[in-house]
Amino acid sequence: PKTSSSNFIKNIMIEDLESGKVKEVVTRFPPEPNGYLHIGHAKSICINFELADEFKGRTNLRFDDTNPVKEDIEYVESIKRDVQWLGFEWDGLFFASNYFGEMYERALVLIRKGLAYVDDQTADQIRETRGTLTSPGQDSPYRNRSVEENLDLFARMRDGEFPDGSKVLRAKIDMASGNINMRDPVLYRVLHAHHHNTGDKWCIYPMYAFAHPLEDAIEGVTHSLCTVEFEDQRPFYDWIVRECEMPSTPHQYEFGRLNLTNTVMSKRKLKLLVDEKAVDGWDDPRMPTISGLRRKGYTPESIRSFCRELGVSKGSGVIDERALEYYVREDLKLKAPRTMAVANPLKVVITNYPEGQTEWLDAENNSENPELGHRQVPFSREIYIEQDDFMENPPAKYFRLFPGNEVRLKHAYFIKCEEVVKGPDGNVVELRCTYDPETKSGTGFTGRKVKGTIHWVEASQAVPAEFRLYEPLIKDEAEDDGQSFLEHINPNSLEVLNGFVEPGMKESAGGEKFQFFRHGYFNVDPKHSKPGHPVFNRIVSLKSSFEV
Ligand code: ATP
Ligand code: MG
Ligand code: MG
Repeated sequence: PKTSSSNFIKNIMIEDLESGKVKEVVTRFPPEPNGYLHIGHAKSICINFELADEFKGRTNLRFDDTNPVKEDIEYVESIKRDVQWLGFEWDGLFFASNYFGEMYERALVLIRKGLAYVDDQTADQIRETRGTLTSPGQDSPYRNRSVEENLDLFARMRDGEFPDGSKVLRAKIDMASGNINMRDPVLYRVLHAHHHNTGDKWCIYPMYAFAHPLEDAIEGVTHSLCTVEFEDQRPFYDWIVRECEMPSTPHQYEFGRLNLTNTVMSKRKLKLLVDEKAVDGWDDPRMPTISGLRRKGYTPESIRSFCRELGVSKGSGVIDERALEYYVREDLKLKAPRTMAVANPLKVVITNYPEGQTEWLDAENNSENPELGHRQVPFSREIYIEQDDFMENPPAKYFRLFPGNEVRLKHAYFIKCEEVVKGPDGNVVELRCTYDPETKSGTGFTGRKVKGTIHWVEASQAVPAEFRLYEPLIKDEAEDDGQSFLEHINPNSLEVLNGFVEPGMKESAGGEKFQFFRHGYFNVDPKHSKPGHPVFNRIVSLKSSFEV
C-alpha cells in the first residue's frame, strides 16, 4: 500500500509509539447502522484503516448501535459489504450494544462517586436551563440527590418503572463550565424501544457522548478519530474515560469533514430520497453512497486515491465533485477496453459493399495498454453511426460526415456520404455512403487523408442497449434550508438513451466497465441489465476542464 504523506494524526501516532505511550495503534470505524455509507464515510474509513496499517496496527469495525429507533440489520449488512468492497479488512467486528451491560456498570461507578444523578426534569427544561455561551446554566433541583437515592432510581429506570422521557441520568460536572458540553450532560434516557440486537432487554439507552468513549476504551482503541464537530466534546470524552476508571485510555483527534459540491451528504436526507422514491434505492447511481458510486461504476481504487489526496487536515472545505471524477478516469484509463457504442443511432447503408457479406475487423482494445489485447468486430453493408456525427449543412471546421465528405470509420474504412434519405417529416433517416476498400484500417493506406474519425456499430449484429446519463441529483444545495430540499431535485438528473453496442458486449456482466469512444466511461448496471440487453451507466465523460 502507498504510504500517506505526513499529517498531524500520523505525527501523533509516531510520537506515541516512540514514547511508549501506546504499544500499537488501534483505530476503529464506528458507523451508526441507520443508513448506507456515503463518500464522506469513505474518507473516515480510509483514514482509520490506512493509518493503522502504516503502523501495523489494528482497526475495528464497530457498529455504534446505541439508538434503537433508527437502526436496522439491513444497514449493518450494507456497511460490511461497502467496507470490504473498498478493500479493507477489519480486525474486530463489534456492536456497541454488546457493551450495554458494561456501560450500565460504568454509570454506577459515576453514581457511587457522586458524579452522576437522576434528573426528573423534561428534556425541554434541561435544554432551557443549560445556559448559553455567555451565561452559566442553572442547577437542576434534583442535582443534590443522595448516592443511595440515585442508585435506587437508576435501577428502577432500568427495570422499566418509568415512562419514556420522565427521567434521565446526568453527569454531575459543572453547570457554569465555559464548555456547554460539560454542563451536566445526559448519560442515559428512558426509551421503551425494541433494539435490533438486544431485543427488549433494555428500556434505558446510553447517549452517544457517554457511550462512545466507553466503547473505545473497552476495545483498547488508542486513537479515536472523528470529525471536527466533536472537538468540543473532547473534554467530556476524557472525563468519561477517567471518571469511569476505564482500564485503557483512548484519545480523540478530529479531522475535517468531507463536503462535495452539489452533493447531499446527510444520511437523514439520503434516507428521505429513498423513502420518497425520488431515487431507485440507496444504490441509485445518482446517490453519493458507496453502493451508488459502485453501481455507477466507481472503482474502490479511485475512491481510495481520492481520499488519500484529501489527506487528514482539520479543514472542512467544500471539494469540487469533479475531483472524484478525475480519479475514476485516471483509474479506468488503462483498465477499461475502448469499444464502440452508438447512443443516438443513424442508419448508414454502404452501397458499394456486397450484400450479404460480413467481415471481421481487428480492433485494439486499448491503444494505451496493449495488454488488453484485441477483439474482432463485424462490418457489413449496414451500420449505425451517431446522429451527431452527421450534419446536412455543417459549419466551417466540421470534419465529420456531411454530403460529399469522407471520414474514417474507426477500425474500418473511409466512407463518403453520397445521399441523404429523409422521412415524411423531413428528418434524416438514413445515409447512403460508399466505402473505399483500399483504406482498410491497419493496411498502412497513405493515399489520402481525412480529418474526421467516427465510431459505428454493424447493424445486423448490433446489440440494443440503454445508456443512462447522470447529472447532479440536487442542485444549489447551499440554498437548502434542510426541510424543503426535495424541491431542489434536478428534474434532468437522469437521461436515458436507446442505442446499440458491439455484439461482443451482448453478455456483459454487471459491473463490467468500458470506455465508449467519445461518450465516456460506462458501467454495466447490475440491477437493470438483462441478457442480450445491457444497461450502461455513465460513470464520467471523457474529458473535464478540471485538473487535480
Ligand atoms: P450523517 O450525518 O451523514 O448521518 P454521521 O456522522 O452521523 O453521518 P456515522 O455513522 O455516525 O454518521 O459516522 C461514522 C463515521 O464516519 C464517524 O466517525 C463520522 O465522523 C464519519 N463521517 C461521517 N460523515 C463524514 C464526512 N462527511 N466526512 C468525513 N467523515 C465522516
Ligand atoms: Mg451519526
Ligand atoms: Mg449525523
